[in-house]
Amino acid sequence: MPPLNPWPRLLRRYAALAVPVVLAGWFTGRLLEWVLAAVLAATLWHLYNLARMERWLRLERKLDPPLSRGLWGEVFDGLYRQRKRQRARQKKLRQLLRRYRDSAKAMPDATVVLRRNYRVEWWNDAASALLGLNWPADEGQRITNIYRHPEFVAFMERPERSHGTAVLPSPVNEHLHLEIRLVPYGEKQYLLLARDVTHLVHLETMRRDFVANVSHELRTPLTVIYGVSETLEDELGDHPELTDSVRLLREQAQRMKLLVEDLLLLSRLEKAAEPDFDEPVEVVRLLEQLVEEGGVLSGEAGHALSLEAEPGWLLAGNEGELRSAFANLIGNAVKYTPPGGRIAVRWRVDPAGGHFEVADNGPGIAGHHLPRLTERFYRVDDGRTAGRGGTGLGLAIVKHVMVRHGGELVIQSALERGSTFRCRFPRERLLPAVTDPSRNHQHGVSGPPDTCRQGPAETGGPPTASH
Ligand code: ADP
Repeated sequence: MPPLNPWPRLLRRYAALAVPVVLAGWFTGRLLEWVLAAVLAATLWHLYNLARMERWLRLERKLDPPLSRGLWGEVFDGLYRQRKRQRARQKKLRQLLRRYRDSAKAMPDATVVLRRNYRVEWWNDAASALLGLNWPADEGQRITNIYRHPEFVAFMERPERSHGTAVLPSPVNEHLHLEIRLVPYGEKQYLLLARDVTHLVHLETMRRDFVANVSHELRTPLTVIYGVSETLEDELGDHPELTDSVRLLREQAQRMKLLVEDLLLLSRLEKAAEPDFDEPVEVVRLLEQLVEEGGVLSGEAGHALSLEAEPGWLLAGNEGELRSAFANLIGNAVKYTPPGGRIAVRWRVDPAGGHFEVADNGPGIAGHHLPRLTERFYRVDDGRTAGRGGTGLGLAIVKHVMVRHGGELVIQSALERGSTFRCRFPRERLLPAVTDPSRNHQHGVSGPPDTCRQGPAETGGPPTASH
């Protein structure tokens, strides 16, 4: 309930005080002096109380206000009530903060509060154990001066490149693997979270090694089966009842060989985050070869394959890996585009980086498949994959190659509107070539050049997924 309005009571009291002053002045014939004396007394009274209030607010920590009556009593009471409310609020906030800090302290995951310039402001016990933070020495230090692992420093410089997460060895014990997340909040403030994922990394390594070992072990027997089936097929010319079975045997052995090769390539790609070595790759020459091979693969299907490649740039990367990725995309376009369809292969460089693209006017892919296309063995189940000889690993390989080269694969497709697969490489990987740029690199291999216009040029644009 709000306090009562004190003014009517106060005015009555002032009137009661004013009456005797006026009467005394009247009877003594010195009204002015009496009134002046009363005003002076009132002013001194107010100044005295003002001084008490200022001193109470400035110096005194105790809650109780100085005792006073009348108007000043009301003012002191009002201030007292406000101070009391404020103290209660502060107490509640302090308790809330303590509870919040206690719960953050108890979290098994490391939590570090970073302010501007990644300077450490607060951390919990798990952060001391996993990231080696020491109190009070590390307070206010830059986190990259405490945790100096080059990959961590690179991660903190460009967290958006790895979508704010990375798996790195702990600075305290290199056998511990930490999943690090950087979460921005407020103004230039960050939460650095680290979780021990050693067991997950071990399981992942076991899975990778298992697949790699099995694939490796299968390689030799499959080569033998394939070789023998080929020889048998040649030899069995006069046993037509057996040739079909042997042909089937050779085809399946060939499929398994491809599968094993792809699985081995994938486990090699997964082993390290970056290519084994970087070399300046002549993209234009590589694409000329691949488009030519695409023409051979197309064979009687007679696709109109075109190449539009910007000369003058080299791409720092692993040529073998890039060849695999580009060949997979061109091969898929040939595999899935009906005979006579158009396939455009493009390479261009702009300030954002290098862009390789394969666009076809084939059947396209429904939007809901796009986010999952780069999963191993994921196939669009519409009967089109049957008998195309794919392993279901092609796009997984492309995605890994792109991640290792610091780039990304963007797939844009819609049913009946063809597909475009784009590989974007970061600008740092492009080097100017010292070759003759006057060479014409725009030509059709088995059809008119640059005839395929798809994707973003169309209104609305088909669905897209980045990998
Ligand atoms: P696969 O070995 O089966 O080709 P990929 O990983 O290369 O495996 O491709 C996954 C699936 O994506 C394919 O099974 C196919 O359904 C679809 N796909 C890939 N490229 C195209 C394309 N250019 N046009 C239509 N569908 C495609």
